[in-house]
Amino acid sequence: MKRILVTGGAGYIGSHACKALKAAGYLPITFDNFDTGWREAVKFGPVVEGDLMNRADIDAAFAEHQPDAVMHFAALSQVGEAMKEPGRYWHTNVTGSLNLIEAATAAGCRDFVFSSTCATYGEHDNVVLDEATTQLPLNAYGASKRAIEDILRDFEAAHGLRHVIFRYFNVAGADPEAEIGEFHRPETHLIPLMLDAIDGKRDALTVFGTDYDTPDGTCIRDYVHVCDLVDAHILGLSWLENGKDSAVFNLGTGRGFSVREVIDQSKAVTNRAVPFVEGPRRAGDATKLVSGSTRAEAELGWTPSRSTLQQMITDAWRWHQNGHYTR
Ligand code: UDP
Repeated sequence: MKRILVTGGAGYIGSHACKALKAAGYLPITFDNFDTGWREAVKFGPVVEGDLMNRADIDAAFAEHQPDAVMHFAALSQVGEAMKEPGRYWHTNVTGSLNLIEAATAAGCRDFVFSSTCATYGEHDNVVLDEATTQLPLNAYGASKRAIEDILRDFEAAHGLRHVIFRYFNVAGADPEAEIGEFHRPETHLIPLMLDAIDGKRDALTVFGTDYDTPDGTCIRDYVHVCDLVDAHILGLSWLENGKDSAVFNLGTGRGFSVREVIDQSKAVTNRAVPFVEGPRRAGDATKLVSGSTRAEAELGWTPSRSTLQQMITDAWRWHQNGHYTR
């Protein structure tokens, strides 16, 4: 059984990756500092409590578990926070990733799957966002992820570290069995905040900006189901196992939805009113982020079959009603 070190395995996407890895016959080894991860989300393999800022923790994990490959999810990932604390984003994301990349190289672990973001592209008017689009990030989150992509390329050239980079669009939804799901404290993401507002668990949702140059004035995003997203990672692992060249793939559906459209769909799925107020723009937000690439479908054989807005909100709502973490 191949062993995969999953950094951030106790987080939202990482825990779904662990479930998918186990189902695909791998042993996922979670590496997490539990700053934002949840112990209850670690259900699918062993766990190492450690910090990417501490190289010795990573070396110990490699020595104990001898992973065949790495899936690197652990990162600070909130645009709003990155605008206020850029230093923390550069420091944590870049130094932590560099420690991990150096440790993997030293341990002879040469297959690396990296969680990057469409935030590396920044704002491009009327440009199809494909993998060749110039990366001009608007915030330290996107910029730190772009820097890590550069580090991976340098380590491939110098040390043969092979990689698949996935640039995510907006990840949404939850495990259809509601064993795991999205749960951030504090929560900043649109769909979970909306479901909380519907449920009366928090105040009305604030729509961040209604004067964007879009048909209804609100930002447009390309939402992809977390289960489809992690399926792509399994395909990315096979890609590396099959000896293919390092590659970059966008993970989005190519369809964009405005904040108002997400509100309408949430109302339809839950059959309840969505309390919301209109507010000012959030600093660092791009007007429209929609993938213009079908490379993942064409080359990896990826099929994002659960990524309709209705399915994502249905699965998120099921998780919202059935599960949450406390520790
Ligand atoms: N958004 C919003 N109100 C909120 C949270 C998010 O209007 O309370 C908007 C945000 O401006 C963006 C979209 O919803 O256009 C998705 O934001 P999210 O934070 O979920 O993901 P991001 O696009 O920042 O990765």
